[in-house]
Amino acid sequence: MSFSLAIVGRPNVGKSTLFNRLVGKKLALVDDQPGVTRDLREGEARLGDLRFTVIDTAGLEDATDDSLQGRMRRLTERAVDMADICLFMIDARAGVTPTDMIFAEILRKKSAHVILAANKGEGSAADAGVIEAYSLGLGEPIRLSAEHGEGLNDLYSQLMPLADEFEKHAVDTSPEVDIDLDEDDEHTDDVPMPTSSKPLQIAVVGRPNAGKSTLINKIIGEDRLLTGPEAGITRDAISLRTEWQETPIRIFDTAGMRKKAKVQDKVEKLSVSDGLRAVKFAEVVVVLLDAAIPFEQQDLRIADLAEREGRAVVVAVNKWDIEDSKQEKLRDLKESFTRLLPQLRGAPLITVSAKTGRGLDRLHDAIMRAYEVWNRRITTAQLNRWLTGMLEQHPPPAPQGKRIKLRYMTQAKTRPPGFVVMCSHPDKMPESYSRYLVNGLREDFDMPGTPIRLMMRGQN
Ligand code: GDP
Ligand code: GDP
Repeated sequence: MSFSLAIVGRPNVGKSTLFNRLVGKKLALVDDQPGVTRDLREGEARLGDLRFTVIDTAGLEDATDDSLQGRMRRLTERAVDMADICLFMIDARAGVTPTDMIFAEILRKKSAHVILAANKGEGSAADAGVIEAYSLGLGEPIRLSAEHGEGLNDLYSQLMPLADEFEKHAVDTSPEVDIDLDEDDEHTDDVPMPTSSKPLQIAVVGRPNAGKSTLINKIIGEDRLLTGPEAGITRDAISLRTEWQETPIRIFDTAGMRKKAKVQDKVEKLSVSDGLRAVKFAEVVVVLLDAAIPFEQQDLRIADLAEREGRAVVVAVNKWDIEDSKQEKLRDLKESFTRLLPQLRGAPLITVSAKTGRGLDRLHDAIMRAYEVWNRRITTAQLNRWLTGMLEQHPPPAPQGKRIKLRYMTQAKTRPPGFVVMCSHPDKMPESYSRYLVNGLREDFDMPGTPIRLMMRGQN
């Protein structure tokens, strides 16, 4: 049994763009299908292994200002009645508008299952809008870029449990399906564990010859790779699916990509966009270094990329089997790591041999832990107790004699953890003080190997 999802929101926020992305090609025909009205179009959507019906309320575009509100209300209500789940979209660049608030109210009243999406979320121009979206009272927004295909993993994560519920609902026929999208502030340890329907997505990145293919083959099991899908591995365009020490995983297929690159004879050029694709795919990125030549320019670039994309990161140093002075080498590596990748402070550094398989247990554990931290949620109460201590220990600066007041702090998101601090004069807050807080969070709440986002926000 599948479910239906209606995309609602004011004109121009990107509804059709998302619709098209979810449905793929073959779109021209959907309007001609019986039962589909001109202003509500339907399509069969795919997202990961989910299949569902998507309804787009695109017909509002030609509404004049006068008629807009009424039509919008009717159309939205109809879409909400038709669909199991509503995806309410705002334009993160524009921020929350009065029209958005009207929508939010309709949706709250209809008490539908609402997923809030802040679209056009690529780039920092969207930061403020994403935070503002919380004020709609519809839970945590997903940061999306329908145009660039970003944030679809998060959409998947939100749809997945709902899809499960609708399936269950179909079986037990209970009249109420009560799903709470809001995360419970009192629980800090409700990390979604990987399951066979939502495997942990891992990518191994690094320079050519670091040993990526060897490592991936080792994880998957070389024999099984040769025997293919019958042995429980399904191969789609970019990823291989298997279990690693009983953890269902999907691993980015570096070798498959490279084969394609060779065919196209653009090996070097592709390896960069390859890395980017791998990073975007992954929840946890393993940066694989060659022990003989660690922290090359290319390694640093890709590690930095993983951090900027907000992925959990584990650094693995490969070919440890041929390393002579291991003790000394490890010390050097740790020193270089701290110096060259300060943005990944605290990320685990694991020595492995992809060839012999040594260290792979520790790598697995480090990945699981990084994933857990990446999903971590800290309660507002805990955060504010902590903030008080931090402020006492080291008061915020007073530019031009006026001390910046930090009033309140909350965790706005997970994957990676993101925090918002309400303060006076957020624009005057020096980078060094933000860094003090981020490093403090990392230490005191034990969050190694995950990017931490901190946003200063003024109160209005
Ligand atoms: P709709 O009226 O809500 O269906 O919006 P459309 O899908 O027609 O998109 C409106 C405009 O926003 C178009 O020019 C899109 O190209 C643009 N757009 C859609 N998604 C994104 C996005 O993620 N980022 C940016 N920058 N623009 C987007
Ligand atoms: P990729 O380009 O990153 O996919 O690297 P490959 O997996 O193709 O490995 C490059 C070379 O390094 C191959 O000759 C591998 O046999 C070798 N290699 C990979 N891992 C190890 C290791 O742990 N120890 C040693 N000694 N050699 C390795």
